[in-house]
Amino acid sequence: MKDTTDRPLHPRTRAVHAGTRRSQYGEVSEAMFLTQGFVYETAEAAEARFVEAARDEFIYARYGNPTVAMFEDRIAAIEGTETAFATASGMAAVNGALVSMLRAGDHVVAGRALFGSCLYILDEILPRYGVEVMLVDGTDLAAWEGAIRAGTKAVFFESVSNPALEIVDIEAVAKLAHAVGATVIVDNVFATPTFSRAVEQGADVVVYSTTKHVDGQGRCLGGVICGTEAFVRKVAEPYLKHTGGAMSPFNAWVMLKGLEHMDLRVRAQADAALHLAEALEGHPKLARVLHPFLASHPQGALARRQMDGGGTVLSLDLAGGKAAAFRFLNALRIVTISNNLGDAKSIATHPATTTHQRLPDAQKAQLGITPGLVRLSVGLEDANDLLADLRGALDAA
Ligand SMILES: *Cc1c(COP(=O)(O)O)cnc(C)c1O
Repeated sequence: MKDTTDRPLHPRTRAVHAGTRRSQYGEVSEAMFLTQGFVYETAEAAEARFVEAARDEFIYARYGNPTVAMFEDRIAAIEGTETAFATASGMAAVNGALVSMLRAGDHVVAGRALFGSCLYILDEILPRYGVEVMLVDGTDLAAWEGAIRAGTKAVFFESVSNPALEIVDIEAVAKLAHAVGATVIVDNVFATPTFSRAVEQGADVVVYSTTKHVDGQGRCLGGVICGTEAFVRKVAEPYLKHTGGAMSPFNAWVMLKGLEHMDLRVRAQADAALHLAEALEGHPKLARVLHPFLASHPQGALARRQMDGGGTVLSLDLAGGKAAAFRFLNALRIVTISNNLGDAKSIATHPATTTHQRLPDAQKAQLGITPGLVRLSVGLEDANDLLADLRGALDAA
């Protein structure tokens, strides 16, 4: 999208206008095309569409739908990729991006600090089909260099890890991967589309769980694969459209409208997150406070080089372990105990007993998931109210 002087538009403008497809009624707010099928003028037209459908010719909602296409084109315009495919959930996007491009005998290298279900795909599912997966410490460039080899097909990592908030150097890892012709797939949820420039930094494919910041109000599941026409339309789409990973038109409409104000929400939430992290650091009940933009973050310089904001999540490590973490969680009045993130409502999660419960203790320790660790997704409430709530709950811990 360009303006009248042919200047490319800023992401915030694209977030409001890109991808819009108006019907014959000229509606202002994007229409929700709640239809799974489409009619053809003639039998010949149906035949032609099944031979080759243009981007705006639809057959069946598992393949594509106008509302879903609006969402795909809008997020691709924000992300700076040629195109995107929207999926039923973030996990359908991760699974679709990986499985669609891999086959038995392929070699994959991944950062080991992963969202539980991502780890399940890499650790349990892919090896079942003969894909060799090596997991490395994502913060250790020497480990990436040692694992990536001639013939490595894909490299996968979360640019900011959950819940320890470690940063992977996208540019450096992409350079190693591209030297052997591997595709770099980045799960970019914690970095957010607002703050990340992953594609500029070398990511070939960026996946999001749009359940998080894109919806932003905890309503719908969704995901998206952003990348080149060659990857998204020729590799990922055939796999996803035949295996049923499509996003529903209703969810796409919620996500599409969510994109219009995502930038405002994410910036406000990230400002509050950093404010809370700074205000709580050094509290006697806390062993550690983690946030990518805290001066004390071991990779703070890399985080600031790689992202325009530190994200909406911080982690608090209570010195008193699990018992203190539970007392803290149970004393919160505004912040709710749940497991989503990026929501307008602030949410606290105890990863060791919920999202990462499945992991053996040694693996938890390796990923920095201590018994006292609480992940805090900062919402849109007044930051002073949140700070008072957190301080009060720390007193109770
Ligand atoms: C939530 C999340 C996912 C999975 O997304 P769903 O929409 O729940 O399927 C994948 N990766 C990361 C980093 C996430 O936070």
